[in-house]
Formats: sequence, structure tokens, C-alpha cells
Amino acid sequence: AAAPDSGKTYVIGTDITFAPFEFQDVSGKFVGIDMDLMEAIAKDQNFKYEIKPLGFNAAVQALESNQVDGVIAGMSITDERKQKFDFSESYFESGVVMAISKNNDTIKSYEDLKGKKVAVKTGTEGYSFAESIASKYGFTIVPFDDSMQMYDDVKTGNSVACFDDYPVLAYGVNQNNGLKIVTEKEAGGSYGFAVGKGKNQELMQKFNTGLTNLKASGEYDQILEKYLGENA
Ligand code: GLN
Repeated sequence: AAAPDSGKTYVIGTDITFAPFEFQDVSGKFVGIDMDLMEAIAKDQNFKYEIKPLGFNAAVQALESNQVDGVIAGMSITDERKQKFDFSESYFESGVVMAISKNNDTIKSYEDLKGKKVAVKTGTEGYSFAESIASKYGFTIVPFDDSMQMYDDVKTGNSVACFDDYPVLAYGVNQNNGLKIVTEKEAGGSYGFAVGKGKNQELMQKFNTGLTNLKASGEYDQILEKYLGENA
């Protein structure tokens, strides 16, 4: 049985545009795997919450400064982040890939990035990965706050490539976002829901219990299938 309603409305930070995990549908409603999971878990565990689409880096910073109670934003569980945050059980496997404009036939590997600009998203694993190989391959990083701006920079040709999470880029490419993926997936963390370290432990417990229940009931699979179809 679900725990009694504590009466509190948790404030949950998320990214602005990170389909299929969070994005606005035609009516402006925030939908996606993260949004549906949160909704189903809150229903299962009988708690109220409010979504704040702050952008990824801003959401993580808001969590660090206790301005939000939790973050669900395709956020990778990493050792570095575990110093500051507590993470739920993971709910999705990820990894970082490189994408270029679909009309570009010259960039095939990291070696081809020499002397070029590469778009990245501030505060992400994609950013850290790009930064870690930038001097080896001789490219310059151009940071953006959200994935849309980062993709636009590649499409307009200012940057030749970008690094983002595989499930998000693969979804975008399938939706004809003007990009194509040209590298193998680099290892990356799995996604988890985060709270401040030692904070909001009751919320974390509810999230984990709810997630376990959704996995057992098949609702978790249904949510993935809704957005990923047979790729789920
Ligand atoms: N998974 C990546 C990270 O945690 C990117 C998340 C995002 O851009 N929303 O760094």
C-alpha cells in the first residue's frame, strides 16, 4: 500500500528540451519518459509534485542550492555527482555519441575535428567527454544551455559536430532533426532521479518503491514503448 500523503508538493527540476525524456507536446504540456515516469510514480506513491523546466545545468544547480526537491532530466548517475546528490535506482541506460549535419560527408571520426568547433551542452556528460578529448584531437568547444541550441549550431554550420546522449540523438535523428550520428557510443552513466545528498530521503524512497512497482506491473515498459516504439 502507498504511504499516506504527506501534504507536501515536491518541486522537481527538469530540462527544457530533451526528447524523448522531456519535451512539450503541441499543447505545451511537458511529456516524455521522465515526465510519464514521475506522474505514474507520484500516483502509485500518493504524492504531489510540480515540474520546473529550468534547463539541465540550471536544474542541477537548483538542486545543489536546495531550490528544488529533486531532478529528473535524463541525468546520468556519475561518481562525481554522487558526492553532491543521492540517486535512485537507474531507469535507463545511456552513453554519449557524436552527431554532425546530415549533409556533411567529411566528418567521420574524432580525427576529422581538428581545427573545428564542436557544440556541447553545459554541465553534461557530453560536455565532459568532448572536453576530455578536445586537446588530443585539436578542436574547440562551444557551449550552449540546451540541446536545441546546440543542434542549431551544427545545422547552421558554425560547429561541425555536437556530443549528446545516444537515446536523445537517436530519437532526434529518427524525427528528422537534420543531424546524423557518426560514432560508436562512448560509455556513460545510466539515468537516475536525484535529490540533494541526505535530503528528501522520503521522496527518494517513494521514487524507488514506485519505480519497482511500475516495473513489476508492466507500466514502466508501456511508458518506454509509448516513446520508443519497438526500440524500447
Ligand atoms: N545525461 C547527461 C548528463 O547527465 C545529459 C542530461 C541532459 O542533457 N538533460 O550529463
